[in-house]
Amino acid sequence: VANKPTTPEIIGYVFVEFDKGELADKQRELVQRGLLIVLFGLLILAALAVAMADNLARPVMRLVQAVNNMSSGKLDTRVSITSSGELGVLENGFNQMAARIEEVHLSMQSRIEEATAQLAFQARHDALTGLLNRRGFDAQTNHDLALARRSGRPLSIITVDVDHFKRSNDTHGHDVGDQVLQRLAATLATRLRQSDVVARLGGEEFAVLLPDTDLEGARTIAQELVDSQACLGYPVIGGLTISAGVSTLRGAEDTAQELLRRGDMALYQAKREGRNCVVVQA
Ligand code: GH3
Ligand code: MG
Ligand code: MG
Repeated sequence: VANKPTTPEIIGYVFVEFDKGELADKQRELVQRGLLIVLFGLLILAALAVAMADNLARPVMRLVQAVNNMSSGKLDTRVSITSSGELGVLENGFNQMAARIEEVHLSMQSRIEEATAQLAFQARHDALTGLLNRRGFDAQTNHDLALARRSGRPLSIITVDVDHFKRSNDTHGHDVGDQVLQRLAATLATRLRQSDVVARLGGEEFAVLLPDTDLEGARTIAQELVDSQACLGYPVIGGLTISAGVSTLRGAEDTAQELLRRGDMALYQAKREGRNCVVVQA
């Protein structure tokens, strides 16, 4: 009998029991460990990022603060150089720029102060003679007048005008006339006391302010000035005379303008009386 395939016959069952619990526990443990490692790595990365950002932000904030200080006028602001690399270059550059700005500002400031002082001087002085001009004289007169009122001390004025100056100018020229005015200014100034003030009120008219001097004292000084000019030989033009009017402070109501006006009136009177002389206020 040929081997005829036979239908397998089930003779029994074998049960295999497989416990997956242990495997699952191992798998879970592995995943947890992996996650922990990744988390730890992320934490380190985050800490590094924060540290780097802080390192970058702090000097930048300091620079921003310094720029704000500069723009609000604190020009002596500097930053401490704590960074290396580009930030260090920036800190250094800021300090150099701030130093330059401060230097330029200081030099501008001193030039402005110089120019202001020069303008203030020019506003009150006469360019040709260096004496006070009308504005400076008025200010000084008001000042001395207030002092005289308070102290009850006298105060007098001499007004002076060059005689026939137009004739001298016409004959010798304007430049020579200018030199004459300069020389006259110098001789007037040297003949006065320290407290006296001499001014060029305009053209060839001068005025002298005499604190603590009454009418008689002022008249004597005026006469000395007139005499000194008359005997002084001027180069080129020779002799030159001046006329003078004298006025003195009257009452508490008297003003600087009134004082000067009376001096001018006396001066005109001196011209009428033939020049080269002194007339006191009426
Ligand atoms: P008087 O005796 O009446 O004062 O006669 P005067 O010729 O001096 O007076 P007048 O007012 O007729 O002329 C003043 C002259 O002073 C006219 C002007 O040419 C001259 N003068 C005014 N300012 C200056 C100046 O700055 N330089 C020169 N060189 N001359 C001046
Ligand atoms: Mg004159
Ligand atoms: Mg005149």
